[in-house]
Amino acid sequence: MSCLFCKIINGEIPCQTLYEDDLVLVFRDINPQAPDHFLTVPKKHIATAYDLQLEDKSLVGHMFWVAQKVSQDLGHQKDGCRFILNCQEGGGQTVFHLHLHTLAGKRFQEKMV
Ligand code: 5GP
Ligand code: ZN
Repeated sequence: MSCLFCKIINGEIPCQTLYEDDLVLVFRDINPQAPDHFLTVPKKHIATAYDLQLEDKSLVGHMFWVAQKVSQDLGHQKDGCRFILNCQEGGGQTVFHLHLHTLAGKRFQEKMV
């Protein structure tokens, strides 16, 4: 499997892990766009949000649950954070393994783009 995030999940490529369970891995982004920037990644290889199957519905819920928990554990709750999920090239996706970004530690603009 040549997928970068699959290689991180199976330990071929190191990462700074913040949380792990049997369904997801959470690690710091290598090129942070905010003081705190981490990725919540399902261990199952799913290329994009458009590749989700009905059976993945609870996995996506779990991803979001874990992301907000880690965010709270890092102390983001007072000032807030931004959750982002890029889908396909036109949506800014560069790694084709589903991942939810969490960015915090700076003030974001009200405009999204
Ligand atoms: P995307 O643009 O697909 O939504 O986000 C991919 C993210 O993965 C980018 O923010 C990028 O910095 C991050 N990334 C790319 N390669 C690596 C890597 O080898 N390790 C880690 N931790 N993050 C990576
Ligand atoms: Zn993958």
